[in-house]
Amino acid sequence: MRIAIVGGGIAGLAAAYELELARKAGSLVEYTLFESRDRLGGSMASEIVNGAVLERGPDSFLTEKPAAAELCRELGLGAELTPSNDADRKTYILVGKRLVPLPDGLMFLVPTKLIPTALTRLFSIPTKIRMGLELLHPPRPSGQDESVAALVERHFGAEAVDRLADPLLSGIYGGDSTQLSARTVLPRLVEMETEYGSLTRGMLAAHSKMRARAKASGKAPAAPRPIFTSLRGGMQQFVDALTERLDPASVRLSTPVSGLDKTRDGWSVTAGGTAERYDALIVASPAWAAGVLLERVDPALAEELSGIPYSSSITINLVYDESQLGRLPDGFGFLVPAVEGRSMLACTFVHRKFLGRTPPGKAVLRAFLGGMNNEALLTEPDAVLVATVRKELNSILGEKVIPAAAEPEYAQVSRWRRAMAQYAVGHQDRKDRIFARVAELPGLRLVGNAYDGIGIPDCIRLGRQAAKDLTASSSPVSASAS
Ligand SMILES: Cc1cc2nc3c(=O)[nH]c(=O)nc-3n(C[C@H](O)[C@H](O)[C@H](O)COP(=O)(O)OP(=O)(O)OC[C@H]3O[C@@H](n4cnc5c(N)ncnc54)[C@H](O)[C@@H]3O)c2cc1C
Repeated sequence: MRIAIVGGGIAGLAAAYELELARKAGSLVEYTLFESRDRLGGSMASEIVNGAVLERGPDSFLTEKPAAAELCRELGLGAELTPSNDADRKTYILVGKRLVPLPDGLMFLVPTKLIPTALTRLFSIPTKIRMGLELLHPPRPSGQDESVAALVERHFGAEAVDRLADPLLSGIYGGDSTQLSARTVLPRLVEMETEYGSLTRGMLAAHSKMRARAKASGKAPAAPRPIFTSLRGGMQQFVDALTERLDPASVRLSTPVSGLDKTRDGWSVTAGGTAERYDALIVASPAWAAGVLLERVDPALAEELSGIPYSSSITINLVYDESQLGRLPDGFGFLVPAVEGRSMLACTFVHRKFLGRTPPGKAVLRAFLGGMNNEALLTEPDAVLVATVRKELNSILGEKVIPAAAEPEYAQVSRWRRAMAQYAVGHQDRKDRIFARVAELPGLRLVGNAYDGIGIPDCIRLGRQAAKDLTASSSPVSASAS
């Protein structure tokens, strides 16, 4: 069986790795991975500059979702996995000129602890009263999908959208809470509203059920896991280890696929002016690119794929000698609500979040810009972007902490155009329509961050699963069984 993979981001790489495993195990599988850029990894990319690991794209993955760490272990990178430094985890939200820590007890945007919520400076008194009264919210049948902003505002008011939902989600999706789907992005909260009415009561009930289950099982409570996991050498280490496992002859860099056609018994893939025949196809490009490629095959499918919105973003790493700076606030960094009208959406204190990836005496500040409402920034020259970030850091953290005269030793700017899929209101229905059409096209699989999870572990899970599905029919075992 010949399989083409379009796109060598983490989803396409995971699919290729799985096919390589099948090939080595004796399956009659050949594959070709087409990647339009001159490198693999898609938005996963990092470099080490004077001993500091600088992430251009993702800096880590959620520990709770096992697919990424499992794959790292399979690749022999188990000893390289590094936890986030959760002992120092503290995140601030910018409110006016002040950085206010997120109150203790927040779970998925839901306040669950009375005293920290009552005392925080993040919310005004009317919002705090509303948060208290939220306990009386009546159950509501889950009907039509709605935006995250609509759900959060109904329960906690507009200020909670501006100061909590919006900055937290723009830090993850580069997205806008008035566009993102509550049903896809916060499914647990939608279920809790149906069952309990109050999200706070729902969250507390879920928590006590979990504790009761742990007690009944008689097992000692497991040590808390770090929220994020990364690699000592950066995410590039992951990409490099995957690349090493692939058959070099099966990987074609700088080779964009320009056309896909369905043939009587398979697929025709056009790249570099040549069309080749394959039995099956894993499309691991962004959905907007998949939409263009599948236009001739199924125009309705192509239209659905092109309808998935994407946001663009910019990351800027600034490496400073600590002697140039004052003392940064404790914690991992801060988020900037859109209502604050800044260019920055977030800033991570990289040397605090993952220990051992920055040389002693250096500080790395990583700013995140762009998002759905600020695409125009992508066309600004690097020097302008770096100057904007330095100015905003100076004004947010203060002249004593980031003096205007403090020159970063190194500045790295990375632009990610239309890289992050947005699960907009109605995403679930769109996804169902997409996969209903894909089911009519034998041998086609769609994977990547547009469908069932934006993060690295989900992309890996989907990529590997697609490859397993396709090879199941060509494995020696099933071949002899059939
Ligand atoms: C700045 C940033 C920070 C992030 N932070 C995190 C984080 O900390 N943790 C986390 O879990 N996730 C994070 N994410 C999300 C996560 O990195 C992505 O969702 C994931 O890497 C997407 O992988 P992918 O393979 O679906 O797509 P991509 O990485 O976009 O790869 C798609 C590939 O397809 C190629 N391609 C497109 N068209 C064609 C064609 N016609 N022919 C051949 N090749 C083609 C592209 O060149 C690209 O290499 C972040 C994303 C960004 C942009």
